[in-house]
Amino acid sequence: MSIADNLQLIKKNIPNNVTLVAVSKTKPITSIIEAYAAGQRVFGENKIQEMVDKQLQLPEDIQWHMIGHLQRNKVKYMASFVSLIHGVDSVRTLKEINKQAKKHDRVIDCLLQAKIATEDSKFGLCGIEIATILNSPEVKEFENIKIVGLMGMASFTNDKKQIKKEFNTLKDLFDKFKPNHKELKIISMGMSGDFKLAIEEGSNMIRVGSSIFGSRN
Ligand SMILES: *Cc1c(COP(=O)(O)O)cnc(C)c1O
Repeated sequence: MSIADNLQLIKKNIPNNVTLVAVSKTKPITSIIEAYAAGQRVFGENKIQEMVDKQLQLPEDIQWHMIGHLQRNKVKYMASFVSLIHGVDSVRTLKEINKQAKKHDRVIDCLLQAKIATEDSKFGLCGIEIATILNSPEVKEFENIKIVGLMGMASFTNDKKQIKKEFNTLKDLFDKFKPNHKELKIISMGMSGDFKLAIEEGSNMIRVGSSIFGSRN
């Protein structure tokens, strides 16, 4: 199936309120153009340099999402255009994003990455750390960032019950913070293998790569 076919199939199977982020990391410009021609406008990359290189070559109306773990010293390269940063896990990083966004007179939307996987390898914050950041007087003074939601990655396993439980943990966290933090709107969870489950558990933003562009080596 073509990239356009893959996109159409996924779109048909997800509700309208769910944003599809097409994860184009490692894939060539030609593949992104194919997806763009099929109407896709939101793309996700996990390396800042790669995203910058691609952004320069592609249409201006693409919304670029940074979904990977951030290197603080590279935030400056994407600050002029990045539309959403998914994987923020510290005040230091928020501070750097704020500083770089300010230089471009922008407000950059960010998601806090929650640790929902039981594996140790995954990055992310626990509930208490998220609460601390959301309520931090220092963070409240950052005028050039906006925390608009939470992001999480489930364990790399075939155990559906386990994955479901982890997605549910993120949804519970979101529901807990939402009443006092009205600006929280996005729950970014679900990838090629598990996005249907993620949507069932309350996701409204899925990050899908291989099911659109084919597997990566
Ligand atoms: C690569 C990646 C994805 C997409 O993974 P697929 O299994 O190819 O859909 C989603 N989220 C993050 C954070 C990623 O790094």
